[in-house]
Amino acid sequence: MEPLSQAEIRSSFVNCSKGEAKGVTLPARVETIPWADIDFLGWRDPKATGRGYLVLRHEGAAVGLSLRATTPPRSRLRSSLCNFCMTAHAAADIALFSARRAGAAGKAGNTLGVYLCADLACCLYVRRKLVPEVPQPSETLSVEERVARMELNLHRFVADVLSAP
Ligand SMILES: [Zn+2]
Repeated sequence: MEPLSQAEIRSSFVNCSKGEAKGVTLPARVETIPWADIDFLGWRDPKATGRGYLVLRHEGAAVGLSLRATTPPRSRLRSSLCNFCMTAHAAADIALFSARRAGAAGKAGNTLGVYLCADLACCLYVRRKLVPEVPQPSETLSVEERVARMELNLHRFVADVLSAP
């Protein structure tokens, strides 16, 4: 993705208060982020377990989402596939992330949930730069096709968070 500055990342958040956005622990110095190898920036807050963030370019604008992560009880976990990158994981490596919707719906407590790689490193899994612990379902997609599928899932989710219900 096209690199973003620290200020652009901080001001991109659409589903949390300004105060919360200010308190976000950024993943790394922006110069050290491998922008060419990622389609979105996803990270867990090292200072607040249970928080995660997604930042991406969506319809031409930088959009950041603040997420709350919970580890679903094993018995209720139907699938251990990430809903974005479709990587298979052991149950402990998948988390349920919920995003408050943007705007009035979010203020009314409306959220959307999605099962994702617990470390939000989807971009590295689709490129096989990170290898999950469990065997992957056999499929013949190329890296480009896996990236395209992930982007489709990601943008659909972001569009849902941004849209009024
Ligand atoms: Zn993933």
